[in-house]
Amino acid sequence: MAGTTFAKGGIHPEEHKELTEHLAIEEMPPPSQVVLPLSMHFGAIAQPIVKKKQEVQEGEVIAVVEKALGASIHSSVTGVVKAIEPRPHPTMVRCGAIIIDRDPSAPPRQYSTEDWKKLSREQLLARIKDAGIVGMGGAGFPTHVKLSPPPNAKVDTLVLNGAECEPYLTTDHRLMLEYPEKVIEGARIILKVLGIKQCVIGIELNKADAINVMNKAAAQSSEKDDTVVRIQGMQVKYPQGSEKQLIYSLTKRSVPGGGLPFDVGVIVQNISTTLAIFEACLMQKPLYEKVATFSGRALDRQANLKVKVGTLLSDVVEYLGGTKDLVKIVSGGPMMGFAISSIDVPVTKTTSGVLFLNSSETDLGEFGPCIHCGWCMEACPMGLSPKEVGLYVEAGRGHLTEKFGIFDCFECGCCAYVCPAKRPLVQFARLAKIAIKKRG
Ligand code: SF4
Ligand code: SF4
Repeated sequence: MAGTTFAKGGIHPEEHKELTEHLAIEEMPPPSQVVLPLSMHFGAIAQPIVKKKQEVQEGEVIAVVEKALGASIHSSVTGVVKAIEPRPHPTMVRCGAIIIDRDPSAPPRQYSTEDWKKLSREQLLARIKDAGIVGMGGAGFPTHVKLSPPPNAKVDTLVLNGAECEPYLTTDHRLMLEYPEKVIEGARIILKVLGIKQCVIGIELNKADAINVMNKAAAQSSEKDDTVVRIQGMQVKYPQGSEKQLIYSLTKRSVPGGGLPFDVGVIVQNISTTLAIFEACLMQKPLYEKVATFSGRALDRQANLKVKVGTLLSDVVEYLGGTKDLVKIVSGGPMMGFAISSIDVPVTKTTSGVLFLNSSETDLGEFGPCIHCGWCMEACPMGLSPKEVGLYVEAGRGHLTEKFGIFDCFECGCCAYVCPAKRPLVQFARLAKIAIKKRG
């Protein structure tokens, strides 16, 4: 199968997927306590609807967002609310959280399934909203909102993102390999919600086993109705899974600068999100468990784990045998993830993976001056000029970088990866955006 790809730039970082891609998803035993942050989504912080010492059931709503953009939060265990107080958070330093002590005698909650095809579009959307589902590929945008594009948007294609182009991460690969029928069924639910017939699932060619099983599941599913779910192999190139690059790669449609996918008739969903939609619509199961890759050579044992949302990284590390020569912890992939300084933070709805990197996997060297080689410009998938942005920021003129299209920069890190002078071009881009915003 010849793979498709995007038009400009891109890089081929070392994959490091061999650490976990062959490991089946393993369910981590629930911890004795979970810490559920009130912000695990894009939008307003959720408000608790439970009190200290209150008993809660697994899957019960414990915090809601009313009259604003956001998503409900559910307890991931049965137990008692120990406290509601600020706790360390992976991206916000600290954030209000509901802390629940698990009742070790409580059995896991059981769910029965029903036929989603009997439900209307509105009923399906209500189940997705009630389940607190958010986009699990990035910022955690509430899924029920994303699946309600404005009436004038002429959406005709659902794109499922099976690229997983970030090094180390193998969660979506394993989900497609182990649950292909559920992913395809989830796609058909989304097609019904959107009132369209066509879905294309993009998978990079380094996941040939997943392409194979997904093709079979899609072929069986197409016999059920008149929807078309197609698998498309894509070249192995980073950042193939970024929204604009993915859409171009699969549909040859270009999302305009400042535009959104529905401007070109497309809605994109991630594989984990699609599975959560499947569970919400068939079983009314809320989103309170997360499959994530825990990798990096500092970990005693790497794994693709299904964990309760709210599980502290310290519990995960203990379960995986601890760390050795730990130099850096990254939440997400090494290209677009962010460094975290503590393992006292919980796994959230949007945690795709956590990397525990040792000294052989990190480069903490100093950066040098620009040598004007132009490699960063060749690598940028948006056709920007990262070197100019860096030079302006260093000169205290970051506020003047709008002319270089800085707001089209989605901080993919391709430029910094190829820079022989190791210049922190992503940080420069962030500083430039801040400088422009400060000047209004
Ligand atoms: S981080 Fe920004 S400037 Fe650098 S390659 Fe990516 S989009 Fe281009
Ligand atoms: S890759 Fe680095 S050294 Fe080369 S032009 Fe870009 S910023 Fe300068």
